[in-house]
Formats: sequence, C-alpha cells, structure tokens
Amino acid sequence: KADLANVTFESAEAPKARKAMNSKSDSLAGKVITITGAGSGIGRASAVLMAARGAKLVLVDYNVTTGEETLELVKEQDGEAIFVQADVSKEEDVENYIQKAVETFGKIDVAFNNAGIIQKFQPFHETSLNDFSRIIDVNLKGIFLGMKHALNVMVQQGYGHVINTASTTALRAEHSLAAYTASKHGVAGLTKAAAIEYVRKGIRVNAICPGGVATTLTAAVPQMLQESDYMPEEFPNMRIGRFAEPEELAELVAFLASDGSSYMTGSIIVADGGLTL
Ligand code: NAD
Repeated sequence: KADLANVTFESAEAPKARKAMNSKSDSLAGKVITITGAGSGIGRASAVLMAARGAKLVLVDYNVTTGEETLELVKEQDGEAIFVQADVSKEEDVENYIQKAVETFGKIDVAFNNAGIIQKFQPFHETSLNDFSRIIDVNLKGIFLGMKHALNVMVQQGYGHVINTASTTALRAEHSLAAYTASKHGVAGLTKAAAIEYVRKGIRVNAICPGGVATTLTAAVPQMLQESDYMPEEFPNMRIGRFAEPEELAELVAFLASDGSSYMTGSIIVADGGLTL
C-alpha cells in the first residue's frame, strides 16, 4: 500500500505560494533569457515581446545579419540584449553563448532552445544518411546541447526554466518528413527526461508544439512540396483555417517564461489551431 502519510498535501511552502500567486503578472522584468534561432520567426517575435515585458536577452543565431536585425528591434523596445553568433549543433558555440550570458548578465533564468530547420519532403527509403543527420544535428543535438549547458548553470543557481521548441510532429508523424518527425519526438523526450530529473532542484522544463506558423521555415514548404512526390490535399490541415503569426507563439513563450507558469513542468504544450485534433 502506498504510504500516504508521507504525501504532503499542504506543504510548508503552500501559504507562501498562494500569496505569491496573487502578485504574479506577465512581467519578465529582470529575467535573463537566452533565445536560439532569434534571427527569425518564432525566436524573433519572442525576443521582441519579451524585451517589451522587461527581459534581458541573449540572442543567438548562426545568421549574423538577421540576428543583429533582431538586436535592433529589441533595442527599439528599449530592451537590454546582446547578440552571440552560434551554430547550436556545435558544443563549443553553445558553451560560448552560455558563458557570454553569465558574464554579461550574471545568471540565466530561462533558456529558450528554439532554433530548428525543416527537411525536404521525401520518402523514408530515399532519405540519405546525410539528410537525416543534418536534421538530427540541429533539431535534436542542438536542443540537447542547449539544455545541457543551460542546466549546468541552472543547477549551480538552484533555479531556472528550459523551454524547448518541439512541434506537432513531436506528437504525430507528418507525411514524408521522417527525420523532422523523429527529431521533434526526440525534443519531447529530452524535455520529459530533464523535467523529472530536475523538478526537485528548482528547475522546470517545458516544450511548445506549434502547428503551422508563418515564418521563413514554412515559406519554403509549397516549393518543397512541388519538388516532392507527395502532394497532400491540404498541408498541414489547420482547422482554424490559417497559419499562426509568430507573435501568437511568442505570447505562449512569454507566458511560460513568466512566473505565471510556475506549476508547469514536463508539459508538451500544443498551440496549433486545431491541427492535431
Ligand atoms: P525560421 O526559419 O523563421 O527561424 C529559425 C531560425 O533558426 C533562423 O533564424 C535560423 O537562422 C536559425 N537557425 C537554424 N539553424 C541554426 C543553427 N544550427 N544554429 C543557430 N541558429 C540556427 O523558423 P521558425 O518557424 O521560427 O522555427 C523556429 C522553431 O519552430 C524551429 O525549431 C521549428 O522546427 C519550430 N516549428 C516551426 C513551425 C512552423 O510552422 N514555422 C511549426 C512547428 C515547429
């Protein structure tokens, strides 16, 4: 029989937590947040919104031009930020931006591991090992490295929150996108694995699953579909009838980054306009 005497329903922290809840807001004032893939799409929109809500940002992208453009947009919000070039699939690059974050701002409250790439639509049996590895390198290894080095800092701090960008393909397959689907299932796996490991160390780990978002990544899809053997009637099947704007995903990221999400960990959060229904 389970020993219920050891289960704490009313912990010593409960009254404090209830009091804190009433003063919670969507403010990100003073929070230090790293964002990978900050040069475009969901990363850029999240950077702009979170800067407006008071966060101090470490913007990371391998594209210097677009990364620095985001830095300018953040500064227009009177935001405090630095840009660091990094390829998230290279461990030395990841170590470098994490180090820069700590050197510049003294801590990391939130690590938003968001950079990712799409593969070309192709039959599984024709997928080259090179194509497969490229997707896994950025979308899965990149998230692993971003998590690992942020967690290293967060364990020393005794607090922190890792937010990963997965996808609805973390929950179900997308036709002719086996490598992408596998990489995003992997992101959900890493999220859950870390969530249970660090839950008692003051660190939370969550993932977001966008469906279709109007970004550079999806702009390439119609052409890629034309070049493939696969032509679905509707891709993807967004029941809401439109792509999301990156700003709509940024709202979710900003909420997660705020103290308002304090009871969430290990969550794989869908924001897909009904795509997976
Ligand atoms: P995007 O192409 O607009 O932005 C991605 C950014 O990541 C770019 O600035 C790019 O330069 C950067 N990047 C790519 N590889 C990198 C690397 N190795 N190192 C550092 N930076 C790198 O795409 P987006 O739609 O904003 O995608 C962001 C995330 O959302 C990705 O993980 C993607 O898989 C995921 N996602 C997007 C959609 C969608 O419909 N757009 C849906 C589900 C999930």
